[in-house]
Amino acid sequence: MKRYPSIDLGRCSYCRGCVEVAPRVFRFNPATGLMEVIDQDHYPRDEVDEAIKNCPEKCITWVEEG
Ligand code: SF4
Repeated sequence: MKRYPSIDLGRCSYCRGCVEVAPRVFRFNPATGLMEVIDQDHYPRDEVDEAIKNCPEKCITWVEEG
């Protein structure tokens, strides 16, 4: 089962708080102008949970697949 974080960009305010908390997981892509989740096999649970907790728009969630 793959577990990864997802950003609801419709609610995101682009504050970049998630990048500060978890720079290995989240980034701002200047090419697209969007926040994005960096593609990787395993995501650091603690860092993602911290970013979820601190996101002012509550728009980060874990997604489970498979
Ligand atoms: S912390 Fe939340 S609102 Fe701020 S940029 Fe990240 S996903 Fe968007």
